[in-house]
Amino acid sequence: MRNDHLREKREFICKKCGKKVVTLEGLLDRRTVFCSALCSRRYWRHSTRRAEYKLKHDQQENNI
Ligand SMILES: [Zn+2]
Repeated sequence: MRNDHLREKREFICKKCGKKVVTLEGLLDRRTVFCSALCSRRYWRHSTRRAEYKLKHDQQENNI
């Protein structure tokens, strides 16, 4: 899978801390939701979404 879209200049608001993040064009940057891994960890720690996502993901795999 190509990652070209990850190398484009993007702007987004961190879902955890609300900080505006601007990625640099030409730089591979996998961030799309959180400004940092720390915010990602903090967000998921107090959330049930991870369990829900994993459940759905597992079900999808079983359907193949
Ligand atoms: Zn953040």
